[in-house]
Amino acid sequence: MEGTAVRGRLTWQVATVSELTDETATVRTIDLQVPDWAGHRAGQHLDIRLTGDDGYRAERSYSIASAPGEPVAITVERLEDGEVSPYLTEDLRQGDQFELRGPIGGYFIWDPARDTTPLLLVAGGSGVVPLRSILRYRERTGSTTPARLLYSARTLPDVIYRDELDRYNHDQGVDVIYTLTRQQPPGWTGRTGRVNAAMLTGIAWPASQNPLAFVCGPTSFVEAVAGALVGLGYPPGRVKTERFGATGAPGGP
Ligand SMILES: Cc1cc2nc3c(=O)[nH]c(=O)nc-3n(C[C@H](O)[C@H](O)[C@H](O)COP(=O)(O)OP(=O)(O)OC[C@H]3O[C@@H](n4cnc5c(N)ncnc54)[C@H](O)[C@@H]3O)c2cc1C
Repeated sequence: MEGTAVRGRLTWQVATVSELTDETATVRTIDLQVPDWAGHRAGQHLDIRLTGDDGYRAERSYSIASAPGEPVAITVERLEDGEVSPYLTEDLRQGDQFELRGPIGGYFIWDPARDTTPLLLVAGGSGVVPLRSILRYRERTGSTTPARLLYSARTLPDVIYRDELDRYNHDQGVDVIYTLTRQQPPGWTGRTGRVNAAMLTGIAWPASQNPLAFVCGPTSFVEAVAGALVGLGYPPGRVKTERFGATGAPGGP
């Protein structure tokens, strides 16, 4: 069984684009049909491989945006000077195919049967993608684990999955807190500025409640937030991190 599962994860297979959804001006969700998908857990990622007509290949990793039990989906943010993300967000059409392998990752995973203490999710920009999988799974499994999402975005229109996140806030008892770093709409009464220790002090569950934190985004964001949480008394083993790379969208989330 295990041998089959490992082979399945590492083998490239063909995925077909079944639906494309624009989330923001620069972010698109790509729903995929993957015939031999072995199933995934909340928080995992996959690799995609594109091959040009001249045989040139590019590989990138993307978090899985859908919950376990749902068809595979990824959500990609366009980096204007990037190689792969402009193709995925602008050129890709329904019915197109590319290769992928996965699911990948055994660490950045939320398991409602195991992880029952308060959940702290901290996202920078497209780092919200695997956290959305976690929140979807929390809803699908009927988990009542207390959950709080702190999401740093440049502006309100840059918030990915906003309607869905607001619904978790209203219907699922999830505290959803946005902090807008670059521009706020008139009358904005929410948080502003980058996530730092002072902001986390008012938002993070107290360490005495043995919370489990998931932090995802650009590398510098993740390191700053994880460091601040450890400073608030979170044991490093209770702060799970996923880094999307040294760069990110210009200016960061
Ligand atoms: C585990 C994991 C999960 C991820 N999940 C997501 C996700 O859910 N959504 C998402 O949008 N992204 C995700 N990423 C990031 C994704 O893998 C890509 O890095 C991203 O889409 C950019 O790819 P690109 O080909 O468009 O950009 P690239 O061409 O790789 O360029 C990225 C940046 O690096 C700069 N750059 C490129 N080459 C050079 C160079 N030679 N010198 C200096 N700078 C250079 C570019 O200017 C650009 O700003 C994830 C990454 C990891 C590791």
